[in-house]
Amino acid sequence: MDRNELKKVQSERLRETVERVYFNVPYYRNKMQEAGLGPEHIQSIDDLHKLPFTVKTDLRDNYPFNLFAVPMSEIVRIHASSGTTGKSTVVGYTRHDISTWSEVMARTLTSAGATRNDFIHVAYGYGLFTGGLGAHYGGEKIGASVIPVSGGNTTRQLQLMVDFGSTILACTPSYALFLAEAIEEAGIKRDQLKLKAGVFGAEPWTENMRKEIEQKLHIKAIDIYGLSEVIGPGVASECYEQCGLHVNEDHFYPEIIDPVTLEVLPEGETGELVFTTLTKEGLPLIRYRTRDLTSLSYEKCRCGRTTVRMKKCLGRSDDMLIIRGVNLFPSQVESVLLEMSEIKPYYLLIVDRINNLDTLELQVEVEEKFFQDKISMLEGLRQKIQAKLESAIQLSIKVNLVEPKTLERFEGKAKHVIDKRKF
Ligand SMILES: [Zn+2]
Repeated sequence: MDRNELKKVQSERLRETVERVYFNVPYYRNKMQEAGLGPEHIQSIDDLHKLPFTVKTDLRDNYPFNLFAVPMSEIVRIHASSGTTGKSTVVGYTRHDISTWSEVMARTLTSAGATRNDFIHVAYGYGLFTGGLGAHYGGEKIGASVIPVSGGNTTRQLQLMVDFGSTILACTPSYALFLAEAIEEAGIKRDQLKLKAGVFGAEPWTENMRKEIEQKLHIKAIDIYGLSEVIGPGVASECYEQCGLHVNEDHFYPEIIDPVTLEVLPEGETGELVFTTLTKEGLPLIRYRTRDLTSLSYEKCRCGRTTVRMKKCLGRSDDMLIIRGVNLFPSQVESVLLEMSEIKPYYLLIVDRINNLDTLELQVEVEEKFFQDKISMLEGLRQKIQAKLESAIQLSIKVNLVEPKTLERFEGKAKHVIDKRKF
């Protein structure tokens, strides 16, 4: 669709959504009234910035169903994401929402090359998690043969993959790698498999992981994005060009904001991704802050699609550092380090303020052999890392190479940043 035409559709759908939440969800009505707004103030998508944000705790505070905009008799499906702390986040779908979800997941699978002649091997978990059923309905919508194998039981996964001739794999990228290794171990030969592509999401993954999955499984690995609050998988997906994820923006309108000032940022700038649902009935969301960090590009894609593309997510805004006025995400540093084979995946960023100037230091473990070789090799590597990093993050950084097993090890989520500055 032409972008001007798309904007008209988005504006009309936004007006409907604002009316829906204003008249049906006390939470939104109160927030809009506090801001001195009524539905009449929102005439087009250009007015979106006037509306207040919604955050994850708003969903928890309204647990389980208080943000739903329809009576429960209209809700045909409930999903929930298990929170690591406290109550889970609950989402509800009307029959029409399920149809929208099937549509956007059908687009996702189609952009990975799927047709009605494909066998879609859904190894995302089924249940309250949205991954399994999201891919399932999308696959059925395009008329493919869906194999609802769900997660786990790897031996059975491999057998079905061979016997049924699965062509499209849908699972998390880490499980795809796990399956790839299991295929090797099981001695399954390349010609026994018919896999050609995979749609991988639900967790962040690097370009290096993509290369590994593509080489080991001999497939095209497509990055997909979604979150249950917005609909589940199907919010955005890469096309075969693999140059950013096309957002289904006729249903989910994206904005990028500065997570500190909350100002909307221009095209190309990195910030926090915010979504407004334009067609959802059960749980419409207004300016929902995802905490995911990315940027948008409106340039037309080589594939011909006109929808806006978002970059592969860089990390979470909760992790963002501001150093000398520049936004820095530890994941930016990590992705540079991961591309270098000399380095172990252990590093620590130390931020400090000396004489009113922010300082940034990196400690990173390198292969043992660099400490046995000449000092000049170590210094050469240090300079190489520093140059690569400085060009990637646009900040000067002091790099210190340390011996293997020097840095503290963590069980679970690793700690990569020490911020010594006092604010
Ligand atoms: Zn494209």
